[in-house]
Amino acid sequence: MTTEDDKGGRTATVSRWLPFSCVDGPGNRLVLFLQGCNFRCPGCHNPHTIGLCDHCGDCVPGCPSGALTLIDGRVCWQAALCTHCDRCLDACPRSASPKTHQMSVAEVLVLLRRYGPLLTGITVSGGEATTQLPFVVALFAAIKAAPDLAHLTCLLDSNGSLGETGWQRLLPVLDGAMIDLKGWRESVHHSLTGQGRERVLASLQLLALAGKLAELRLLQVPGRSDFLDAGGELDAGLATFLQTQGPVPIRLNGFRHHGVRGEAMGWQEAAMEELDRLSNALKVKGFGPIALPQL
Ligand code: SF4
Ligand code: SF4
Repeated sequence: MTTEDDKGGRTATVSRWLPFSCVDGPGNRLVLFLQGCNFRCPGCHNPHTIGLCDHCGDCVPGCPSGALTLIDGRVCWQAALCTHCDRCLDACPRSASPKTHQMSVAEVLVLLRRYGPLLTGITVSGGEATTQLPFVVALFAAIKAAPDLAHLTCLLDSNGSLGETGWQRLLPVLDGAMIDLKGWRESVHHSLTGQGRERVLASLQLLALAGKLAELRLLQVPGRSDFLDAGGELDAGLATFLQTQGPVPIRLNGFRHHGVRGEAMGWQEAAMEELDRLSNALKVKGFGPIALPQL
């Protein structure tokens, strides 16, 4: 039988956390970035959060600060010695990081109580947060069960790949989810994420129906995105899909080179004029409100 103490002890592999963020949902939010992602986006801005470390040790000899050691077959990271040169991230063949750490639900609650008076809520991001779903469910349930944390909203930043069974576990303790849609047609979505769009569209519909689709995020990649048709108007199929979701806040993100590796370094960055065109095409059809990035 699972006890509340057991749930408090449930842990996640965390790549980093921020006590305060104003760009990961409304207000001032504590943000957890969980390690591991089930998409393979060639334009990922945090490719070292994709994989899980298997303790191969390949990154250890290249650390110039002696911050990495292999002990009993496991790579150990000493934060106090680390200069964050990121050579270990470049050396890793699995798009992983030796600098992750385990955090328990109870430890996150301690942080929320420390910073809580200044916070609007918590956002769990990634990587892909739902690859560690039991932790997210246990964390949000613990927050909802704590009277002194009741003022905090629980948001998820997700690629939308979670299936219906997973969402049904999460919905009772979730205040809202921000979901990425990185391409409209199946072929374009696949080329920009390594996965098909079906589960993402199903997640958007499920969340909209539940009143918990906090934000739809569209990524514009010049010469690759297909949200607009050849005439510069919103793709008719996308327009029909959005109409069935009801009013949803939409955030437009433009592709940037920051953090990316490999072929995507050769992609063109999105200019503000291109995002304005997409924004106007959405507004003409009555969608929005639309939020644009600060480029
Ligand atoms: S971070 Fe990567 S290279 Fe380093 S031990 Fe883990 S899997 Fe190996
Ligand atoms: S970022 Fe990695 S390689 Fe650089 S000092 Fe820290 S642990 Fe060592």
